[in-house]
Amino acid sequence: MRAMYKAMERKGVKTLENSQLHNGPFHKAAVTDVQFGPMRLQQDQLQVLLVFAKEDSQSNGFCWACEKAGFTCNIARTPETALESFVDKHHDIIIIDHRHSRYFDAEALCRSIRATKPSENAVIIAVVRRQSDRDEASVMPLIAAGFTRRYVENSNIMACYNELIQLEFGEVLAQFKLRACNSLFTTLERSQEAIEITSEDHLIEYVNPAFESTMGYQKDELVGKELTEVPVNEKKSDFLDTLNSCIKTGKEWEGIYYAKNKNGDNIQQNVKIIPVFGHRGKIRHYVSICRPCNDNNKAEKQRERVQAECQTDLQTCRHKDRRKGSLDVRSTTSRGSDGSSQRRHSSMARIHSMTIEAPITKVINIINAAQENSPMPVAEALDRVLEILRTTELYSPQLGTKDEDPHTNDLVGGLMTDGSRRLSGNEYILSAKQIHPVPGFISTFSLTDIPPRIAQAMENEEKWEFNIFELETATHKRPLVYLGLKMFARFGVCSFLNCSEATLRSWLHVIESNYHAGNSYHNSTHSADVLHATAYFLSKERVKQSLDQIDEVAALIAATVHDVDHPGRTNSFLCNAGSELAILYNDTAVLESHHAALAFQLTTRDDKCNIFKNMERNEYRTLRQAIIDMVLATEMTKHFEHVNKFANSINKPLAALEESEGSIGEDDSVKNVLTTPENRILIKRMLIKCADISNPCRALEQCIEWAGRISEEYFAQTDDEKRQGLPVVMPVFDRNTCSIPKSQMGFVDYFITDMFDAWDAFADLPNVMQHLDNNFKYWKGLDERQLRSLRPPPE
Ligand code: 5GP
Ligand code: MN
Repeated sequence: MRAMYKAMERKGVKTLENSQLHNGPFHKAAVTDVQFGPMRLQQDQLQVLLVFAKEDSQSNGFCWACEKAGFTCNIARTPETALESFVDKHHDIIIIDHRHSRYFDAEALCRSIRATKPSENAVIIAVVRRQSDRDEASVMPLIAAGFTRRYVENSNIMACYNELIQLEFGEVLAQFKLRACNSLFTTLERSQEAIEITSEDHLIEYVNPAFESTMGYQKDELVGKELTEVPVNEKKSDFLDTLNSCIKTGKEWEGIYYAKNKNGDNIQQNVKIIPVFGHRGKIRHYVSICRPCNDNNKAEKQRERVQAECQTDLQTCRHKDRRKGSLDVRSTTSRGSDGSSQRRHSSMARIHSMTIEAPITKVINIINAAQENSPMPVAEALDRVLEILRTTELYSPQLGTKDEDPHTNDLVGGLMTDGSRRLSGNEYILSAKQIHPVPGFISTFSLTDIPPRIAQAMENEEKWEFNIFELETATHKRPLVYLGLKMFARFGVCSFLNCSEATLRSWLHVIESNYHAGNSYHNSTHSADVLHATAYFLSKERVKQSLDQIDEVAALIAATVHDVDHPGRTNSFLCNAGSELAILYNDTAVLESHHAALAFQLTTRDDKCNIFKNMERNEYRTLRQAIIDMVLATEMTKHFEHVNKFANSINKPLAALEESEGSIGEDDSVKNVLTTPENRILIKRMLIKCADISNPCRALEQCIEWAGRISEEYFAQTDDEKRQGLPVVMPVFDRNTCSIPKSQMGFVDYFITDMFDAWDAFADLPNVMQHLDNNFKYWKGLDERQLRSLRPPPE
């Protein structure tokens, strides 16, 4: 180095190290702090190169001015030494004497300096002759040669000094800041996250190498193109629209985005899109930071690991979100603009940055990951799957898609909605209901001394064709106590509960007393009927294989209590009427909540009828849980959820196993499907649901009776609604106009067929299905005959 300076000095390059000098008021610190956005930079002492062939007053003026300003000053006498010196030192300012063309060509020198890389940020000044106003020359040749500006000769030291100071705080400072961008570009170029910068109009301005390699495109294939034009975003124009409207507002967006790489594969990425405010305070750029959720084209084995990484990635993003106020966001968005708007995320972004990972989020992540290595048709099918999964009502068919029939619509409206049609200000208070206490005296019959007529009516209780109405008559509308005693004995309920037959009898009596004998449908006969169906299903081989005794006991108890204290009005009615129960249960599963809660109140309030009193605590809790779950499962708003879960988790796996019949370990696999705790819950729910609405599957005579009873109860509700000026929940159930056959066909079509198909596939119920079929044909025939009788006779 030393030797080189020596050589330069010999060639006429003079070095003045002014930083050592302390010259009064003009002295400045050798190092200055410069703030550039969020960066703090240190600017060294400025270096000036003077290129003057001969020392004269002008060159001396600049020399002294440098000294005053505290800049380092080199002097070169020839273009060669000037170039050499510049390449060595990268001066901030070069002042070239342009007055004497006979020594060297100043413009040629400027061009050669500009040809070097470090000159990008150098400020080059041409010192020109003072000219008369008339001869004022154009500055253009100078600009063309690469000069920054010209200085009209003036050797006054103050003039030189002022020129240097203006440069220092103007052009030189700006160039110094721009030079710092090299570090930012390096960061971008080396980032492992794929980064794309677009203009406000979505023209691609920059992509980094990580972006190139993720997408399989070269920079040149992307830069300068419109976002929607490049194949990366193929078919994503509607997505971009959403995005557009999201970010037009100046808010950051974060979410999952699918791009397409050059091979046509879908790449799933966690993307952040950050608007960057610039000129005139407008959004001038969008920065997209993409983190692939998966390593492209890796072996199948790696999937799980990658999925885990993907989830951690999401979590990392979440943590970043929490410290939104920190540098990463604020610096790139608007300084001085409303910071809170950046902290608010679009709802789309929030879906993917939920703090607590719900199972559905895991499912979506797994599908996202699976999409990546899948061929196009599969990935597209999975797109549709994701679309469906993202909706909330997964189990309820959309109204009107399956059937436009008014009967069905009314039933759906009446049974599957709660308080949605509630009118305000129309308070209906149910007549304050007295809870029936355990009577002091009840007939003390036991199973051994049941009156013969009643015993006879219960003889074939193990058959599906058992006639509950005979028992209703024989027991003077007290079928539940008798049938309960017999069936609970058959399933060994007392010994399981460790309670006496007397306690069970008292319990059955209290429960039955709390059914409303005045209801035409929801009375204790319906409960006895559901109990019967439950017991029937429990004795089916598949069901026995699946359930433990505690499940059987829970099912029998749940069936017995499942409609206790039913007011003969639907949930919708109670909600519309603002009944006490609807208020108590917030319009949600009002009746079912009440049935379950009241059942436990009635049972535990008096030891005499408390069938649970001798149970071990944990067993009681398990049993109670199972009973509550089953009673709540009878709520019709959840009908399709229960049926679909059963079909997906039980029917489908069993069918798959049956297909691979004979394979080793098949028995064990079947057992596994049947007996997992989750699946047992689904089986019990399905069981009680099928029992609850099994009347369309009963023998024709009984089916007709049930249809008459439910219709009568609905008619009474409609009458009541009209009387009270409440909304009519099911207008087809008007006693003057209703077609019972049509309403039955609607009910069967919408609720029964699919459910019983699934239940039959599981439990094998040929006779039940046969009745359903016969009954449907009966209603159809009746409907057609009614139609014919209404039609005018042919001419
Ligand atoms: P539950 O109140 O009996 O526990 O729930 C079953 C629901 O299905 C009841 O709301 C009842 O009104 C309805 N349901 C049961 N059987 C029939 C029927 O045969 N026809 C019609 N339309 N509805 C029924
Ligand atoms: Mn019921």
